[in-house]
Amino acid sequence: MNINSFGVLYVVATPIGNLQDISFRAVNVLKTVDHIVAEDTRHSQFLLQHYSIGTPVMALHEHNERERTENLLKRIQTGKSIALISDAGTPLISDPGYFLVREARSMGIKVVPLPGPCAAIAALSVSGLATDRFLFEGFLPAKTTGRVQRLDALQKESRTVVFYEAPHRIVDLLEDMQTVFGAERQVVIARELTKVYETVRAGALSDILAWVKSDANQQRGELVVMVEGQKEATAESQQDFSKMLSVLLESLPLKQAVELTVKITGQKKNIIYDEALKIKGQ
Ligand code: SAM
Repeated sequence: MNINSFGVLYVVATPIGNLQDISFRAVNVLKTVDHIVAEDTRHSQFLLQHYSIGTPVMALHEHNERERTENLLKRIQTGKSIALISDAGTPLISDPGYFLVREARSMGIKVVPLPGPCAAIAALSVSGLATDRFLFEGFLPAKTTGRVQRLDALQKESRTVVFYEAPHRIVDLLEDMQTVFGAERQVVIARELTKVYETVRAGALSDILAWVKSDANQQRGELVVMVEGQKEATAESQQDFSKMLSVLLESLPLKQAVELTVKITGQKKNIIYDEALKIKGQ
């Protein structure tokens, strides 16, 4: 229900790097609304000038969202339409706007999405990881204790998990992930998507960590980190790795047999280790 005399609140996705990644409809809406509400008005000027959009721009960021919302809603109630944008991608996805959208909807104001770029979705679409079910975690806490706590809670997650991270914390994040998920877990880093230095790299956590540590360029720019979900041991796969383990244990020490089986099957180390102990009758 939109009260007839009310304006509309548009939530408009904008590019995450390449300025061409914006829809015709988004440009038209940004040109025709009464106001644009942007996270950082100076940052958005670059995009708005590129598309000759002269609409007045107001700031809405995490520090003024609550106080600004009341004023914005009043404007919409008097028939003005407003477009919400953020610095990059889809507003509200690790960006401001939640409070404004929630309040607008509760007042019966029509809220219209203009879909477009989102770093998480762009990254997932080229990751090669399972995308039928995934979990978006956004930014983890900046401090190690909080970060490890959140990772611990995700240790048994079977869906692909998507994180945003600041480049100066990428090494710490990968190190903590290796501790929690194990060195063999597959991870994909998507850096600088749609920009000149776009890089997407997949591999075992230990390999990706070594690569990021050895190349300072991989610790710059914007990145999305995706972790493969824990593989659930089906009865069939259990039988497969159990057979493989039995054969390897005939001629190799337990530790080596376990490591090889983990490498070949991608199964979690503790599951293989428990199975090895069972086979050995320990
Ligand atoms: N609302 C945005 C979206 O829809 O993706 C996300 C905003 S959040 C404040 C910024 C984070 O998104 C960055 O720290 C990075 O993790 C990710 N990001 C944004 N642009 C990116 C890009 N071009 N390549 C990779 N990651 C990006």
